[in-house]
Amino acid sequence: ETIGANFSRLAAANAEREALVDIAAGRRWTYAELEADVDALARGLLAAGVAKGDRVGIWALNCAQWVQVQYASAKIGAILVNVNPSYREHELRYALQQSGLKLLISMTGYRSTDCRAMVDAVRGECPELTNVVYLSGPDWDELLAAGSTLPPDSLARRMETLSADDPINIQYTSGTTGFPKGATLSHHNILNNGFFVTETITISNRDRICIPVPFYHCFGMVMGNLGATSHGAAIIIPAPSFDPKATLAAVQDEKCTVLYGVPTMFIAEQGLADFSSYDLSTLRTGIMAGSPCPVEVMKRCITEMNMSQVAIAYGMTETSPVSMQTQPDDDLRRRTATVGRVHPHLEVKIVDPITGLTVPRGTAGEFCTRGYSVMLGYWNDAAKTAEAIDEARWMHTGDLAQMGDDGYVTIVGRIKDMVIRGGENLYPREIEEFLYTHPDIADVQVIGVPDPKYGEELCAWLQLREGAAPLDAAALADFCAGKLSRNKIPRYVLVVAEFPMTVTGKVRKIQMRDTSAELLG
Ligand code: ATP
Ligand code: MG
Repeated sequence: ETIGANFSRLAAANAEREALVDIAAGRRWTYAELEADVDALARGLLAAGVAKGDRVGIWALNCAQWVQVQYASAKIGAILVNVNPSYREHELRYALQQSGLKLLISMTGYRSTDCRAMVDAVRGECPELTNVVYLSGPDWDELLAAGSTLPPDSLARRMETLSADDPINIQYTSGTTGFPKGATLSHHNILNNGFFVTETITISNRDRICIPVPFYHCFGMVMGNLGATSHGAAIIIPAPSFDPKATLAAVQDEKCTVLYGVPTMFIAEQGLADFSSYDLSTLRTGIMAGSPCPVEVMKRCITEMNMSQVAIAYGMTETSPVSMQTQPDDDLRRRTATVGRVHPHLEVKIVDPITGLTVPRGTAGEFCTRGYSVMLGYWNDAAKTAEAIDEARWMHTGDLAQMGDDGYVTIVGRIKDMVIRGGENLYPREIEEFLYTHPDIADVQVIGVPDPKYGEELCAWLQLREGAAPLDAAALADFCAGKLSRNKIPRYVLVVAEFPMTVTGKVRKIQMRDTSAELLG
């Protein structure tokens, strides 16, 4: 089934139920109303000359129009290109050029960011970009109006030409380990994944899902929007970008039953001074994904936010995204130490990164997955695709993981972050977790730096708490002595004010490795 056909089917079955609430805009849609607006926009895109397979970009914060663009572009078989709102000129230029974008739907700006100026600056270098439509103002209305001049059956005729295996979406990865790569995904990839993510947490058309995570990322648009509409549930948009107060207010006022977030969002919500004044009694479940969840945060979700069935999910842009998820009745250990077990209809294996052979249970290796969720490939990059997906269609994730006897998987770190010191594999995550326990250390990252004797040596980048005394390698070694095996004690220490970060807020270890050499002299 295509995304458009699935949406029409669920909209018909849930016509009078609420589909979408945009709190900032003060507007709400039933499924019948949302489908009418989606179809009007789809016709507008047809009238603008968008052919099947043309790339249509959306550069906007979360809003109802984002959702409408998502479904309208799917209905006409255009390939939606998600553009990250925090991109700056060079990243915008790269995404527009690399995807060969034809039409861009864009916000004019937000806070101090002038999107219109950035679009104007790069437009001349994007020969395929023939049309830019701004969300606020006359452009959007003109686009909708143009569609009304088409024959009434034009949209239905286009939908008949689509297949569920067609590419429908290009999502750029976060760029944590290099330049962002454009994962190309089909209807089949993301519609099924959205469906199984919410099926696992038993979503029905009575649920109301609060989505504070960004739509440009797979968490928002697939696990959020597609996860909701494929079950006839309602999408509640608490704010254009994450705001802990607006999120809890939306849960309370809209009587949400489900709340999504990355762990840091739950930390911000639980840290609000007036946290206990929100009525969260309608909540039942939710999803936390993207990075590991601290035990305390999970406990408070369960006991103080009523999310007794909250799930942890693990995935990556290239796999639609989710491949592992915890179950509603899993205990606290499984919901914090592991990322759950494999999703229905997918295969996973953990292999030795060098030999490619499956490792025994409990041994760390590269996490690989195969099945409907694996992307079609990286857009216009056959070489990178061949590095990631092998001949047998296994996606090599680049993540290190180990699987327990119960099939539950623990993520150990990324292969690119693994340090090989004197032939021994060291996993920075384990060392970082220990160093966090030092009272003067506010944040820490451990990386490998070249060493003539051992191949690599460990280097710890530290951010110290305010007022803390200086900390050098000898002092750190004293702290570790007897508690961390000798080969895991960092040889070098660099105290810094901040770490280099990606626009999605992940630490760029690759860059730290390059600058360590300079800093260490
Ligand atoms: P790039 O591929 O451009 O370097 P990225 O891998 O950070 O960037 P994403 O696709 O947004 O881009 O992130 C997927 C990665 O996030 C996974 O490969 C994994 O390393 C990490 N991740 C996702 N979910 C979890 C989780 N539940 N626990 C721990 N890590 C997670
Ligand atoms: Mg990645």
